[in-house]
Amino acid sequence: MLRLPRFRYFVPRTISEATAMKADSGSGSVFVAGGTDLYPNMKRRQQTPAAVISIGGLPELRAVDFSGDGVAIGAGAILSDLENDSRIREAYPGLAHAIAEISTPLLRNMGTIGGNLLLDTRCNYYDQNFEWRQAIDFCMKKDGQICWVAPGSPRCLAVQSADSVPVLIALKARVLLVSAADRREIPLEDLYRNDGIDYATRKPEELLTAVWIPRPDGWRAAYRKLRRRGSFDFPVLSVGAAVRREGPRVEEARIVLGGVASAPLRLTDAEERLKGRPLDEDSIRDAADAAARPSRPMDNTDFSFLWRKEMTKKYVASALRALTGAEGGRG
Ligand SMILES: Cc1cc2nc3c(=O)[nH]c(=O)nc-3n(C[C@H](O)[C@H](O)[C@H](O)COP(=O)(O)OP(=O)(O)OC[C@H]3O[C@@H](n4cnc5c(N)ncnc54)[C@H](O)[C@@H]3O)c2cc1C
Ligand code: SF4
Repeated sequence: MLRLPRFRYFVPRTISEATAMKADSGSGSVFVAGGTDLYPNMKRRQQTPAAVISIGGLPELRAVDFSGDGVAIGAGAILSDLENDSRIREAYPGLAHAIAEISTPLLRNMGTIGGNLLLDTRCNYYDQNFEWRQAIDFCMKKDGQICWVAPGSPRCLAVQSADSVPVLIALKARVLLVSAADRREIPLEDLYRNDGIDYATRKPEELLTAVWIPRPDGWRAAYRKLRRRGSFDFPVLSVGAAVRREGPRVEEARIVLGGVASAPLRLTDAEERLKGRPLDEDSIRDAADAAARPSRPMDNTDFSFLWRKEMTKKYVASALRALTGAEGGRG
């Protein structure tokens, strides 16, 4: 059995207590929400914080507020609550679908949306226990010097694998980051950096407090996820696609890939192929062809990377078809 290492555990009662505790405890501490990513990582000694600040029980972080110009979702909102929230299912069916694809019902009862947005990046050479990693002399993401996927690479290529991220970026979501000294709001896509180790632009002292999604206003999004097991598995290719149509024509489109790089990848060429055209088989084929080119998965997750690249076309096409209603089902 894998055991947790020793660590100090803090339980703040408010957001300001949480950020003050972080400021006091410094770089050796991390926040934890549901713990479904952090604690397994600690058991495998991939993360070894001296102190953990638990924000999972903060009521301020649980709210889902539709009273403004869109919805503000507290970072501590539980995934299964969001998946079953009739207002989210009605206004953002593609997001409800993406959340329902995360891990398993039990883990979704613990996991939070904030923890999903800040999920650690993944790689076959990293997602192993301590002894396995020690046997290959570790890798540069933790305790080692080299990247086993691309030994010449100056940076880690571990993969962004959070299910909610592509759809939320497609829907123009923004996030609120708060520290003891500051607060700032940024587009969700700016939260990510294409570096498997330093994958988030969040400063270590910042607490992610909320994600805000604008009112749908004609936008509709869909999600598609490639994984080995339909029951549960991380995505090894994922597509979040959103379009805004006026009449039959696409006015704006946003298409985002997950699972192919250390950051989510916007497919701006593919988006351009849809603009001003009806969303039909011709425009969908053009967009899907343009999507495959920038998709360059690495050989560090499940399935052959060449096959995953090939599947990009089919998954983008499928997500876009879902927006025509042709494939039916969930968004
Ligand atoms: C068996 C298994 C299968 C899984 N399958 C999937 C899957 O298919 N798809 C998927 O997307 N995920 C999957 N996960 C990962 C995980 O369950 C989810 O990503 C979940 O949403 C993480 O949320 P959490 O609240 O538990 O995060 P935590 O473990 O609490 O935190 C995750 C990271 O975010 C940081 N953090 C959390 N909240 C905040 C905050 N508010 N501010 C600042 N930092 C914060 C933590 O310090 C930590 O680094 C799986 C996990 C397991 C164990
Ligand atoms: S991509 Fe390379 S450095 Fe990053 S986790 Fe995998 S083997 Fe390690």
